[in-house]
Formats: sequence, structure tokens, C-alpha cells
Amino acid sequence: KEKLDQGLSKTKESVLTKLTRVVAGKSKVDEDVLDELEELLISSDVGVDTTIKIIERIEKRVARDKFINANELDKLLKDEITGLLAENSVNGHGDFDFPADKQPYVIMVVGVNGVGKTTTIGKLANKFKSAGKSVILGAGDTFRAAAIEQLEIWAQRVNVPIIKQKMGSDPASVAFDTLSSARSMGTDVVIIDTAGRLHNKVNLMNELSKIKNVMKKVVPDAPHEILLVLDGSTGQNAFEQAKQFTMATEVNALAITKLDGTAKGGVVIGVSDQFKVPVKYIGIGEGIEDLQVFNREAFVHSLFG
Ligand code: GDP
Repeated sequence: KEKLDQGLSKTKESVLTKLTRVVAGKSKVDEDVLDELEELLISSDVGVDTTIKIIERIEKRVARDKFINANELDKLLKDEITGLLAENSVNGHGDFDFPADKQPYVIMVVGVNGVGKTTTIGKLANKFKSAGKSVILGAGDTFRAAAIEQLEIWAQRVNVPIIKQKMGSDPASVAFDTLSSARSMGTDVVIIDTAGRLHNKVNLMNELSKIKNVMKKVVPDAPHEILLVLDGSTGQNAFEQAKQFTMATEVNALAITKLDGTAKGGVVIGVSDQFKVPVKYIGIGEGIEDLQVFNREAFVHSLFG
């Protein structure tokens, strides 16, 4: 909780400063206040569509209740945003946990280079391991030698096995080997890295579907989780990447990184709403412990006090 507040401090500071300005000298929530609120949300990278949705919901409340004190705007926002996030939330398994009937639980991690994919995989492996689960990593980003090396460093750090091949080898083959190892060793969680090159959409789509198909030869319902990693500090770029990746494959969970050090935390609200994918994890620092399971109440509370 404290870490979350600290991690989100820049977004919080920015949102609260603007919110104070919006309601300053105003007694009731009226058209003016709502216009300014709209600007606030858009400038916090919530995204236009989601902002309009939130404003419409607040408008409805205002119309129903006739008079809403401007001081209550933060409470109103908290309610509506929590409700919105609840529409795309993760059911059932929360705290670095997964369904017991899925073993190995297979996570395929997608996202463009530089967003924090490798770091997130390392942090996740560490969390699962701390929770008593066995983990194996698959170095499926065979496009860059550095990606394999970086993942190997994390594997050593967390002390989990890694399956890798030479740079340039077939990522589907790496995935096959990793899942086969997991099967034979009885491993609980498999985390497969993939290359994130967006410049060729058809290639991306084909590569990801090939990896998925090969996985199914070992674990028929794999991958259980297709986790898209987005850099929360990139604002609209994160929206664009979410668009590309959700078109290329069935993304069913989001990890939003680098929320520390950015005032653009509104991305969390907008991306989840716009692409109907739950935010499962948030990254709030470079350290191994700086990954949290996303909790919408805690998140909204952290932003709006
Ligand atoms: P990849 O290319 O997507 O695999 O990205 P990396 O995992 O190598 O991360 C790129 C940089 O972002 C590294 O310097 C990481 O330490 C940093 N990074 C990753 N996640 C976070 C985060 O949540 N907060 C901060 N501040 N930095 C992060």
C-alpha cells in the first residue's frame, strides 16, 4: 500500500493538483466543472473514449441528484472509475496465484522492446517462486541476442531454470522445449518471452500464432495467459501498442510498467476500458519487488486520496 502510494505519487500529485483547480471556488458540480474535469482526464492520459464515458456517467449522477457539492467530485470520480475498472477485472485468482487445475500454468508475454518485458518476467518469476511455485523461463525473443542474455541474468538472479537456443532460432521451438521441460519436471509456471517487433503486423501475428499452436502440442489449453506489457509512461503510445497487439493475438491480461516516475498513470484506466482487457499487474519501480497485483480499489484510492 505504501509502495503503491509512493509509486503512483507523480500521477496522484498531478491529478490532485488539477482536481483542486477544477473545484476551486465552485459550489456545485455543473457543466463548467464537468468540462474542466474532461480536460483533466484527457491530460492524464485516460484517453478520449474512456474520458467521455466517465463524464457521461457523472453527468447522469448529477442529473439524478440535482445538487452535488463540488467537494464531492473526488468521491464521485473514485466511484465511477472503480466501477469502470470492475467491468474488466481479473476474476478468481488474485495474489500471484493461478487456477490449481492448470499445471503447468503457461504465460506468454508480449510487448515491444523497451517497455519492461524482461524485467516484468523476472519480477513475476520471483513472485511465483516466493509463493512456493516452481517456475521455468523460455527465451522466446530469439531476435535479439541481448534479450536472451537479459533473461538469463534474471533467471540466475531468481534462481529458476531457463530454456534458450541460439539467437535467430525458431521461437516456437524454444516454446516447445520449455513446455516439454515443464511437463517432465512437473513445473508449476512457465513464462515465455516473445519478440515484440511491430513493424510487420502480419509477421507478428503469424509468429505469435505459431508459438501458440506449438505450445498446444504439449499443453492443449496453453497459453493460459497472454500478458501484454505496456510502458505506462508512454501515454498514447501504450494505447497504440495495445491496439496492435490485441488485433494480433488474444491478449487477456495487461502489465503496465514504469508507473513510478510518470504522471500518465491514467493509461491504466483507459487502456483496460478501451481494449476490454484486465490490468493484472503494475510495475512501480526497477527493483525485483516492484511488481504488484493490480487492485482497482487500492489504485483509485491512491490516485484520488
Ligand atoms: P524490455 O526490452 O521490454 O525487455 O525491457 P527491460 O525489461 O529490459 O526494461 C527496460 C528498462 O525499463 C530497464 O532499465 C528496466 O529497469 C526499466 N523498468 C522496467 N520496469 C520498470 C518499472 O516498473 N519502473 C521503472 N522505473 N523502470 C522499469
